[in-house]
Amino acid sequence: MKPGIKSRMLFMMKRKLRGSLPAALCAWCLVMSPGQAQTIAPAPQPVPPPPAPALTPSQIIPGTSQGTAPPTPPPAPPQARLDKVSPLGTKPDWSRLQSFHQTLTRPEFEAVMRDVYSDNSPLPPPWTLDPDGVVVKTGDPLKPETRIGFAATRSNGPLPGTRTWRRAAELPPLKGRPPLSDVHIALDPGHIGGGYAVMEERYLSFAPGEAIQEGNLSLITAQVLAERLKALGAYVSLVRDRQDPVTTLRPSDLVTTARQLLAEAGFPSPQENYNDLTGDAKILTVQWQSEKLFYRVSEIQARAQKVNDTIKPDVVLCLHYNAEAWGDAAKPQFSPMNHLHVLVNGCYSLPELEQQDVRFEMFYRLFSRMHEEELPLAESVANGMRAATGLPAYVYTTPNARRVGSNAYVYARNLLANRVYQCPVVYLEPFVMNHEETYRRLLNGHYLGRTLTAGRLQTSAIEDYVRGVVDGVLAYYQKNRPK
Ligand SMILES: [Zn+2]
Repeated sequence: MKPGIKSRMLFMMKRKLRGSLPAALCAWCLVMSPGQAQTIAPAPQPVPPPPAPALTPSQIIPGTSQGTAPPTPPPAPPQARLDKVSPLGTKPDWSRLQSFHQTLTRPEFEAVMRDVYSDNSPLPPPWTLDPDGVVVKTGDPLKPETRIGFAATRSNGPLPGTRTWRRAAELPPLKGRPPLSDVHIALDPGHIGGGYAVMEERYLSFAPGEAIQEGNLSLITAQVLAERLKALGAYVSLVRDRQDPVTTLRPSDLVTTARQLLAEAGFPSPQENYNDLTGDAKILTVQWQSEKLFYRVSEIQARAQKVNDTIKPDVVLCLHYNAEAWGDAAKPQFSPMNHLHVLVNGCYSLPELEQQDVRFEMFYRLFSRMHEEELPLAESVANGMRAATGLPAYVYTTPNARRVGSNAYVYARNLLANRVYQCPVVYLEPFVMNHEETYRRLLNGHYLGRTLTAGRLQTSAIEDYVRGVVDGVLAYYQKNRPK
């Protein structure tokens, strides 16, 4: 094997364990595996990506060797590749897609795949189109394909009973009631906070005796926001209402899975605990991986179960605060950057789609037409947030996100939360917590009016956040629901 290829394979294995982003591009989104990113956090040590050798077709698609490819390990057979499930994921019930038979036209399917769900990779996806339907590879050897037929003409969408959420247009007429009457909004405060903030790498302190924690800030934001939305008539549920996990699992329950993931990535004898380790050495320990499985994967799956089976809202708003690289958590660095973006679900990569649960969830969202509600709502919320915070738009330079729609603040990205919550999800990422002025504003917590911060009178960042969401949500429902 050429040394260049070997080093790239090692890099890809590390990246799979650590994050889907090339670390040098955005040190940030730590991910267990593709499609499980939650939000942004400092990476311990950026790993410069080695120069990428040209991949030959035979390395990607078996049986297409031109006889000039360097010797490489044979790729897994397609069926085996497509049989994988994401960490802690479960095999889907593919028959559920049959409810969507003949509900979407082929032009509608092709347009939304191109504009929202695809990352526009030239590689062939694990499905094919025939004149009247899409044939999806399931990964199940007993029933390797499932086919969803297209409708001949545009219909009004899935049959009643195939979803629990309602579009704004489907709500009862207001008839003079408060403007958000009947709307069921679930607020999902990102992360856990409290005693878990250090473990989940969401604890930021620039001086002894002071700190902000994203999980605490998101919970306060949700609590203030809930009261404002209720005052406008909405029914509001909190997916998390305290600084405790929703999942009943803990890192110690996930050690075996962590070991398996490390072994599959080529590290069969990992170190147990990270103690004073940093960078890749820390990431490649059983402790770090089992903690990540706990707060990033198991926690989101538990919230999804709560959202899908109990809360059943019309929309979920995932509330986060962003960050730029802050380096060593014991000696963090301020960043001059401060920005805002809003995420919808989309931009699936081929490695993500090779996992059968991820593939199923994308098709489930697509055929449910969640994007038809999610994208315009996200655009309206982005407008409200831009006006309330005055923040510039964050610009992604990495392939894991893409612009979608017409609003410069809105990107599509495949995150675990916005994929597995089975309703429209608007995922907010305002403010850079380690921007110095923002950090000082956030230290002041939530307040009304202005207070002297960093030498001038400033509003509460939390209050601006709340006001932006309220204005955006209100504008959307006022425009789209029956009067
Ligand atoms: Zn976050």
